[in-house]
Amino acid sequence: MTIAIRPTPELAAAADAQFEGIADPVEQALAVLRWAGETFGAEFAVTSSMADGLLAHLASRVVPGVNVVFLDTGYHFAETIGTRDWITGVLPITLVNVTPPQTVAEQDLSFGPKLYERDPDLCCELRKVKPLAQALAGFVAWGSGIRRDESPTRAGTRLVDWDAKRGMVKINPMAAWTQDVVDAYVAEHQVPVNPLFELGYGSIGCAPCTRPVAPGEDSRAGRWAGRGKTECGLHT
Ligand code: SF4
Repeated sequence: MTIAIRPTPELAAAADAQFEGIADPVEQALAVLRWAGETFGAEFAVTSSMADGLLAHLASRVVPGVNVVFLDTGYHFAETIGTRDWITGVLPITLVNVTPPQTVAEQDLSFGPKLYERDPDLCCELRKVKPLAQALAGFVAWGSGIRRDESPTRAGTRLVDWDAKRGMVKINPMAAWTQDVVDAYVAEHQVPVNPLFELGYGSIGCAPCTRPVAPGEDSRAGRWAGRGKTECGLHT
């Protein structure tokens, strides 16, 4: 497969500067996604945790049939799997469902049960980071739904960045969105949302590593709570 434009750090920086000037966050996100689709074609994919269908909805508006990569870790809430199937059923996307090489039972045999409690970094490496790296090897640009307002570790997120670890362009079209923008877009477009948000979850990952958040906590405070870990390694 050939691509018209080679992904480079310079290309990413120029695009980032171009899109930062768009004031409306929805128009900004659509412009970034449209650019990625036109520039990289079938070699562009977005990822989704299936917390909601927001990025998939935005991307499918300007890149119909867009590849949506989901890391099916084997530890997801039933609600998350249901949200994946809901989104795949109602949006014009191509689901790329990625599973780790080992099932949870096989991992338990190799590393002992509940690896997520004893060594969550290794568990994330085995069930998220490596599988995503393999899945993204077939693409030259990828997109995520991370936002600057989600946590201090994400405050410097760029709209278009260079993923030096993978040698790819990485886009974060919703980097500048706030929760108010999210809520308004979801309501206007009837975007599928994981029902766990109704139960107080602020960010949704694997079931053993996710708890609801208390009022006033940042949305990712319920991820790996009490384990000194804030990111799974996909965006760092
Ligand atoms: S979030 Fe938890 S269960 Fe999921 S891969 Fe990471 S450590 Fe394992």
